[in-house]
This record gives sequence, C-alpha cells and structure tokens, in this order.
Amino acid sequence: MTERIAVYPGSFDPLTNGHVDIIERGARIFDKLIVAIAQNSRKTSLFDVDERMDMIEQSVSHFSNVTVDAFEGLTVKYAISKNACAVLRGLRAVADFEYELQMANMNRKISSNIETMFMMTSDKCFFVSSQNVKEVARLGGDVEELVPSQVLEKIKKKFDF
Ligand code: ADP
Repeated sequence: MTERIAVYPGSFDPLTNGHVDIIERGARIFDKLIVAIAQNSRKTSLFDVDERMDMIEQSVSHFSNVTVDAFEGLTVKYAISKNACAVLRGLRAVADFEYELQMANMNRKISSNIETMFMMTSDKCFFVSSQNVKEVARLGGDVEELVPSQVLEKIKKKFDF
C-alpha cells in the first residue's frame, strides 16, 4: 500500500500548543506528516523562517513520522511535489470556517487530487492563536501554557523577559 502523506501548512509565527495538538492527532492518522512553513513575503513575521523551523523541529522531535519544511508558492503544488494526498488544517471558530472554505475550494480547483482535511481544535486550544500569543507576550503577559517550552524560551529572548 502507498504511504499516506499529509502536509500541514501554516505561518507558525510562532508554533502554539494549538498547532501541536493538530500535529499530534494528524500524525496518528497519516503515515507521514510534513509541517510546512509557508513563506509569504507580504506578511510581516516576528520570527524568521529559520527560527520558526528550529522551534518546530525541537518541539515535534518526539513524533517519528513528522518532518518540518518550508515552501514558497501554492500549497497544492507543494503538496503534489511531496506526493501528499492531503492538506491538513485546523478549525477553531466560525471565523476560521469562512476563510478555510474558500481556500479549500480554490485548492480543489487547482488540483482535485489533493484533499483538504479539517480537524476541530481541542477544547483546551480553541482560544489559542499565534496572534494572541504574540500580543500577550508583547504586553508582558504569561504565555507559558499556550506554547511548547522551546517556543517559550525564544519568546522570552525576543521580548527580553
Ligand atoms: P495561517 O497563516 O495559514 O492561518 P497559522 O499558523 O495561523 O497559519 O495556522 C495554521 C493552521 O493551524 C490553520 O489551519 C489554523 O486554523 C490552525 N490552527 C491554528 N491555531 C489553532 C488552534 N488553536 N487549534 C486548531 N487549529 C489551529
């Protein structure tokens, strides 16, 4: 049987426990899961791609079937180049749904061979986003319970606390 490979694309600026939850559950379903940092020059980021890559690699090293990569351009094209059958995305709120529905339909137009699969957030992660982690940290708040320890270290350095 062929391996079932999925790509989990995102900005991961930075990786949060919400992302790790999706990675953990995705890794149980697929033979291989590629966490893929989407390089987008139009988005300003707190961490550069190498920093994000290091943080993710350190945080997911205990999953034997998870690898980390970065890509530019269309997610679907990248997924095809990796022989993936699916793109994995997480859903938190209704606000995510609208955007994700559009993306999934657009991606299906580009290639009907790649299926977008959604996983509902866990109840403990539904309020966690990279955006609010950055905002709370910037204002000196505690984000310890929202991100992996390796990410927390980098955030502390970035914000000097
Ligand atoms: P993007 O800029 O592509 O939205 P993100 O890094 O913000 O990238 O998110 C990547 C994926 O992870 C998206 O599908 C997003 O909905 C999902 N995600 C982010 N945070 C959570 C969370 N707390 N629970 C479930 N899914 C999440």
